[in-house]
Amino acid sequence: MLLTPHVMVGTAIAVAVSNPYIAVPLAFASHFLGDLVPHWDFFSNTTSEEKTKGWRVLGVMADLTIGVGLGAMFTFFALWKLQNTPLALNIFLCGIASVLPDVLIGPYVYRTNGVNFLSYWAHKIQSKMQFPAPLPWGIVSQIIVSLASFAVIANLVL
Ligand SMILES: [Zn+2]
Repeated sequence: MLLTPHVMVGTAIAVAVSNPYIAVPLAFASHFLGDLVPHWDFFSNTTSEEKTKGWRVLGVMADLTIGVGLGAMFTFFALWKLQNTPLALNIFLCGIASVLPDVLIGPYVYRTNGVNFLSYWAHKIQSKMQFPAPLPWGIVSQIIVSLASFAVIANLVL
């Protein structure tokens, strides 16, 4: 999946499960479940050459920016608006955990500083656990996941 819906799911888990020792591993696990939802992302049906060139790189950067922005927004909302520091911390940690498997494969895909052991395995496991779907349904499924997550968040904190 794209990073943005992963962050939405991670935030919903943080809001629903207040104990970070349970919520953070759950958010990490949710990444793999999320990738099993039929989806389209910038790496769907691409060669490793295509992943590192052109508009797909910009797409990944835009998705990362939106995902980080959303995570930060929810964190600051909990911190300033709800005055709930434990919740803010939980959202922050769950947000990171929910995208960590994809962040780990970054060095593998982009060959930044060589391929480390963690990146190699994160890529190997994840490449087997993807359910690619064509457009537009591959995006519709992620909008549904994001909206359902937002409903959970809104229901519990608003
Ligand atoms: Zn992934």
